Amino acid sequence: MRKPLVAGNWKMNGSRASVTDLLGGIRAGIGEIPKAEVAVCPPFPFLQMTEEALRGSSIAWGAQNLCTEPAGAFTGEVAGSMIREFGCTYVIVGHSERREYYGEDNQVVARKEAMARERGLVPILCVGETLAQREAGITSEVVADQLDAVLELSGVSAFGKTVIAYEPVWAIGTGLTATPEQAQEVHAFIRGRIAEQSADVAAGVRILYGGSMKPDNAADLMAQPDIDGGLIGGASLKPNDFLAICAAA
Ligand code: 13P
Repeated sequence: MRKPLVAGNWKMNGSRASVTDLLGGIRAGIGEIPKAEVAVCPPFPFLQMTEEALRGSSIAWGAQNLCTEPAGAFTGEVAGSMIREFGCTYVIVGHSERREYYGEDNQVVARKEAMARERGLVPILCVGETLAQREAGITSEVVADQLDAVLELSGVSAFGKTVIAYEPVWAIGTGLTATPEQAQEVHAFIRGRIAEQSADVAAGVRILYGGSMKPDNAADLMAQPDIDGGLIGGASLKPNDFLAICAAA
């Protein structure tokens, strides 16, 4: 059985004050959520506060990005080892905003995925198509290429230690959610692609859905057989909404 994971991607939001409130609200409300694993991914400067606020709770935390390289002259970058030192379990890699605004291609994302695992972090590998790609009927090709870059660099065993997040770009921050059927179709495709190389790894890998997941659509999405939780943007900044999604998992 795959344990669902609900992870909040806070993106570039927050201040010391708002992060204190948000962490306090989530920690105070999480008590009654037995089924899902829960994680939050704040911006780097708030990781220490997050560690202090969540240590000893059932809530995990992670970062939103890491450098492909282990250390050295890479001004402005953050190493996986540093992230790990702040108690992070997870790190998001290949979010569509990084692919779109910072030019991360499939090969860079695959190197980040590998570096995360080498440093003892669980990557949350984001994949997904743009609206133009969906309308052109190439969703599966796009997602296959994104997965294949990791398969080629690291082999199928990588997916024994990695979480995948399917995030259709057209659903991110738009209020347009994929229907449960649309999402399930791609999730099943992803699992099938991995199963071509290892049925065992495919059966175990968690595949989250992300893209305008809210309290009112979370249960239907997560009821799909291949949807194992959510990667939540906007709604993860509101404790009550985030907790409601966690409870729906
Ligand atoms: P929204 O939930 O705001 O659509 O963002 C989804 C996302 O990008 C999570 O990584």
